[in-house]
Amino acid sequence: MDLYEHQARELFAEHGILVPRAEITDSSKEAREIARRLGGRVVVKAQVKSGGRGKAGGVRVAADPAAAELTARQILGMDIKGHTVGTVMLAQPVDIEAEFYVSYVLDRAAGTFLAIASAEGGTEIEEVAAARPEAVARIPVDPAEGVTTATAARIAAAAGLPPQTVDVLVRLWNVLTREDAVLVEVNPLVRTAQGRILALDGKVTLDDNARFRRERWGAQEATHDDPLEAEAAAKGLNYVKLEGEVGIIGNGAGLVMSTLDVVAGCGARPANFLDIGGGASARTMADGLNVILSDPSVRSVFVNVFGGITACDAVADGIVSALDSVRLTKPLVVRLDGNNAARGRAVLDARAHPLIQQVPTMDGAARRAAELATNAT
Ligand code: GDP
Ligand code: MN
Repeated sequence: MDLYEHQARELFAEHGILVPRAEITDSSKEAREIARRLGGRVVVKAQVKSGGRGKAGGVRVAADPAAAELTARQILGMDIKGHTVGTVMLAQPVDIEAEFYVSYVLDRAAGTFLAIASAEGGTEIEEVAAARPEAVARIPVDPAEGVTTATAARIAAAAGLPPQTVDVLVRLWNVLTREDAVLVEVNPLVRTAQGRILALDGKVTLDDNARFRRERWGAQEATHDDPLEAEAAAKGLNYVKLEGEVGIIGNGAGLVMSTLDVVAGCGARPANFLDIGGGASARTMADGLNVILSDPSVRSVFVNVFGGITACDAVADGIVSALDSVRLTKPLVVRLDGNNAARGRAVLDARAHPLIQQVPTMDGAARRAAELATNAT
């Protein structure tokens, strides 16, 4: 779950990181009042969960309260990368002398955290990273050790950040670990003409697994890159969209993972990961099929079930009743094995749906599903 900038800055402030004075509103009239309270001249900033607001015209300076009202009116309702602006933040402007980039991210591949920092922060950081990767320092952080003053000094030195940022780097690490975040990013972290270090922007991604103890942020939507993933999550399904053509449904994460491998071994690409777990009810099956069939790149679906506590006949019943609410548009290859497999197969045979075929082995079924996906036009 991503936080809004104004929420991220709230966390920064609580952990002792300096931020400009600011207030949020959804009304341009109120924006004028806020600007007056903040001293007249303000920066008006769109609150959307997307980067690149500055370049999209969602961050603008207003010279006085009247201009703040006008600017707020222009930014409210704006579309930034598919997000409609419903709230603006008005912040006291800061005299920027230098802009830095700092972040901590969970590096899943390396099984550790990564500090990323650069003395060339600001809206061009992506271009800087692409053109001159050496301008961006990447330092692994041992999660057990954390960021001590010594670690922070190393990060700052590697990135060419001034020594005053060391304290902020330690505090930002505290935000990451104490607030259940998997990513914290400040871009820009600035040095003012007076030599103070301030966070002018903030991105915080909280670990979705810790939502139960983060009620403070309300029932915000989980972070999903893909609309189908969001829909699946809303239905309580464990679904991840992939690039391929063979839709996959299985019971148990381990079985689903090996199903992906076997399908790939047959020369086709899995279209998704979907673990229905023990829930083989008609509802779960219908939800799962609906999600997978709405993916236009899916050409065949492989249902791979090893009956255990959930018996195969229950899964077969689930598939058959799902057919009442789901219009099957693509071939379904079903492999049932384990507890009550024979009974489950009989249930599907009796239904005799023209698009459903059964193959008794995992390898055979994967091969069939792969053929159907690669031959289908
Ligand atoms: P983003 O484009 O979504 O990353 O939004 P930011 O909050 O990072 O703002 C974009 C840019 O606007 C920053 O890199 C700053 O250069 C500039 N900016 C933001 N706030 C202020 C401010 O208070 N004073 C000044 N002078 N510039 C600001
Ligand atoms: Mn920014």
